[in-house]
Amino acid sequence: MITEAFRRLVLLAVFNTDVTRYPGQAGSIPVRLRSSPGRSVAATAFVSFAAREVCVDRRRDIPRTDVVLADPRLRAATERLGREPVKAAVHAAQQRARAGKLAPEDVTDAAVAGLPGTAGGLRPVLNATGVVLHTNLGRAALSSAAVDAIVAASGATDVELDLSSGKRARRGRTALAALAAAVPRAEAVHVVNNGAAALVLAATALAAGREIVVSRGEMVEIGDGFRLPDLLESTGARLREVGTTNRTSPADYAAAVGPETGFILKVHPSNFVVRGFTSAAPVRSLTGFGVPVVVDIGSGLLAADPLLPDEPDAAGTLRDGADLVIASGDKLLGGPQAGLLLGSAALVERLRRHPLARALRVDKLTLAALEATVAGPVPPTWQALRYDPEELRERTVRLCARLDRAGAEVIPSVAVVGGGGAPELQLASWSLSLPLAYAEPLRHADPPVVGRVERGRLLLDLRCVPSAADELVLRAILAAGD
Ligand SMILES: *Cc1c(COP(=O)(O)O)cnc(C)c1O
Repeated sequence: MITEAFRRLVLLAVFNTDVTRYPGQAGSIPVRLRSSPGRSVAATAFVSFAAREVCVDRRRDIPRTDVVLADPRLRAATERLGREPVKAAVHAAQQRARAGKLAPEDVTDAAVAGLPGTAGGLRPVLNATGVVLHTNLGRAALSSAAVDAIVAASGATDVELDLSSGKRARRGRTALAALAAAVPRAEAVHVVNNGAAALVLAATALAAGREIVVSRGEMVEIGDGFRLPDLLESTGARLREVGTTNRTSPADYAAAVGPETGFILKVHPSNFVVRGFTSAAPVRSLTGFGVPVVVDIGSGLLAADPLLPDEPDAAGTLRDGADLVIASGDKLLGGPQAGLLLGSAALVERLRRHPLARALRVDKLTLAALEATVAGPVPPTWQALRYDPEELRERTVRLCARLDRAGAEVIPSVAVVGGGGAPELQLASWSLSLPLAYAEPLRHADPPVVGRVERGRLLLDLRCVPSAADELVLRAILAAGD
């Protein structure tokens, strides 16, 4: 009760300017309340409810779990979601009643209102961060075509069966064919769990007990403490480092290549840029040494795109002479988490036949989503990257106009690709700027709205929010200010 009272009163204090002092319920903390009639009534009603709570203990009136669960709405929910999520919603409502935040007779309704949308614990979130591929928000958002493909493949499916002959068929052959068709230069393709798995498979199959020749300028950490050198060495391959942090020449590679070489590895330093006195050996300069050239391009751009001139793409890298290209599925490709391996038929076949490949193989759902991403409509990632700033400004202004909130304004801002890709690219954007105190209640909205904090303000960039969800953002902001 006290925490809830405190939260509400503090919110009032934060969001209103026209205030009077009021001795609140939260111990000795002086609380400020707005003096406008509407707000005062709400606040006073709340405080008197609190006072009543002190005199009459209504906790014994809280209905028992089995009584609440017998409600037809909750019985239906148990069918749909299973018993545990429904019980958790009931317990949460009872807990709020015990804490005096809910009247006992409202427990059942509150449990119904608190039911999760699905039996899974992951909640859909509105990404208003202006970071298109946000790692903490699951990187690429899938297209509805990809979601439909996942649903279609979720039951029994012909992932490894040829329906015309009735015989076993290559797993995920239509997804692999779609990927191969998107990158005609690749003689063969293979898909594993993620980019890191693709690297591990290549290192294990082509260089275990031997050497991987790699530039010191490309020994990168990809995030959350994961370092590619550690990942590669975990396979039993040895790293043969060449060049320096800022400069590596083709001659450095030439001097290091020998009978122990498994392959030359080039890694796109996707999440940082080195400037100044720098040079790197282009893929083209490394193809004559008689060993495979494997290139980890990171982000999964299949073909060059003018929006991202500094991002390497699979087709261009193969054209430059790479034998094998490695990329992620859930970065700039805009698909599900996956590791793509494209290139020489002989190398891809060696990887595919290696025992480790079975441990890294992808699920039917991934194959379904990948195919729908590669062959289907423009995924949300690219809609967000190409969003017209003027349209974004108009949407944000419309939202702001309906807010009627002091402290809300529309400001120009900068959006980024994120997900460890295109670190230099700045996308001209617009944001709704709000007082910082909105951040927490917006994260607790349904669905949660996640913005970003910049110079002490909460910025909401609608670039990655479907326009159909603007109404939900509006409602969340209005509710947060109440
Ligand atoms: C992101 C990235 C990886 C790791 O890929 P995951 O799909 O996250 O496992 C590896 N190398 C580079 C260059 C990357 O950008």
